[in-house]
Amino acid sequence: MRWKLDAFREECGVCAVVGAADAANLVYLGLYALQHRGQESAGIASFDGKGIRVHRAMGYVADIFSREVLASLPGEVAIGHVRYSTAGDSALANAQPLVVNTQHGPLGVAHNGNLVNAGALRRRLEREGAIFQSTSDTEVILHLAARAQTAGVEEALLQALAQVQGAYSLVVLSRDRVVVARDELGFRPLVLGKLERAWVVASETCAFDLLGAELVREVAPGEVLLLAREQLQVLRPPSPPPYAHCVFEHVYFARPDSQVFGEDVGVVRQRMGERLALEQPAAADVVVGVPDSGIPAALGYARFSGLPFVLGLVRNHYVGRTFIEPKQSIRHFGVKVKLNPVKALVAGKRVVLVDDSIVRGTTSRKIVTMLKAAGASEVHLRISSPPTLGPCYYGIDTPERRELIACSKSVEEIRAFVGADSLGYLSEEGMLACLATPSRNFCTACFSGRYPVLAEEEAALAKTER
Ligand code: AMP
Repeated sequence: MRWKLDAFREECGVCAVVGAADAANLVYLGLYALQHRGQESAGIASFDGKGIRVHRAMGYVADIFSREVLASLPGEVAIGHVRYSTAGDSALANAQPLVVNTQHGPLGVAHNGNLVNAGALRRRLEREGAIFQSTSDTEVILHLAARAQTAGVEEALLQALAQVQGAYSLVVLSRDRVVVARDELGFRPLVLGKLERAWVVASETCAFDLLGAELVREVAPGEVLLLAREQLQVLRPPSPPPYAHCVFEHVYFARPDSQVFGEDVGVVRQRMGERLALEQPAAADVVVGVPDSGIPAALGYARFSGLPFVLGLVRNHYVGRTFIEPKQSIRHFGVKVKLNPVKALVAGKRVVLVDDSIVRGTTSRKIVTMLKAAGASEVHLRISSPPTLGPCYYGIDTPERRELIACSKSVEEIRAFVGADSLGYLSEEGMLACLATPSRNFCTACFSGRYPVLAEEEAALAKTER
């Protein structure tokens, strides 16, 4: 049977601690802060002085790790991972860190991003007899490293990384050391920090804040670092720009209290809201943001337009992924359980509703309906990014084109579908103007269709179209 990679279904966060007592406890805290990057499964692997121990399970970090579980992961070096995926039964096999024994010793890997040539590499490895345990693209890196005929694990990993293309922000546990690697285009974020004498690595700086660690710097695009107790060695130097930093990290994915690609996400989002107000003004009475991700942009919109920001939608934060919908159908139930309008603030008002993106359009449609039911006289939907036009092959979970509403409908048709009185998106130039980093260093593929690295899926599509 042909296996299928979970190409579109990866959103992840990684963390590593090198050189601190009970490193797994610290990684646990780091994963807590990175939970927004993946809620399906989580895992921690540590080196106990002899071998690698690992605990992985489905669910939230808070539910997976107890005191007992953390006590079973001793040692001064540990890595961790949170993952979002919608792959069915095999999901636990795909949970990370993946841990294997190789001729170079035991290896554990946690990966954020998506490799675009994993399919071809895997087919080749399988023809050569490799047996894969998961459907995740990450396993390819382990197979390549395991086969490398070199004396050391560092060289084996470098050889493996030289063969993969696409997005990777990686932490690899190798006995009492961690190899940290970022792809040459720097798609996904990765930062290096210090906690007293220990090294800390995380997808986002918000993990450092919780740990009380200090940000040292970004792991540069292309860089491969070897971290050992009080020692840092550069195994591969940074690659020169231009890069392909994911602009969607700033639009939606990263936490607003993180610094990503050297810029404060919350500040960037607020700027996007201001720019949105400039480009897409609306005659209205109040500004309402869709919690949580639409709030910073809504504040920016309010500030620039001079309209008051009101907390017109309240989010219930306690809804888990395993929430069971009642059998009897309740209208718009899915969104209702998460969001509730504050009638007193929106009734009789012309509302500017600000959200970060429209993907399928179903969420916006439900929220607009909900605000109108709560008495809003008009709803002017404003989106702090351009129309989503293409799937992501580099680690953000985006559906295929046929599910992306902007692929088949014009802005006016989308407005009609969501039931808003007007609809306006932020332009691509406007979005990029909100970032201090030069525009040529960003990947905007999901908005522009310009893919910095051709993915197998896009290549196949182009072939079919030809
Ligand atoms: P919809 O248009 O109904 O598919 O959902 C759009 C909403 O989902 C937006 O308000 C975003 O906040 C959120 N969103 C956008 N991209 C993603 C993503 N990759 N994963 C999860 N949620 C997302």
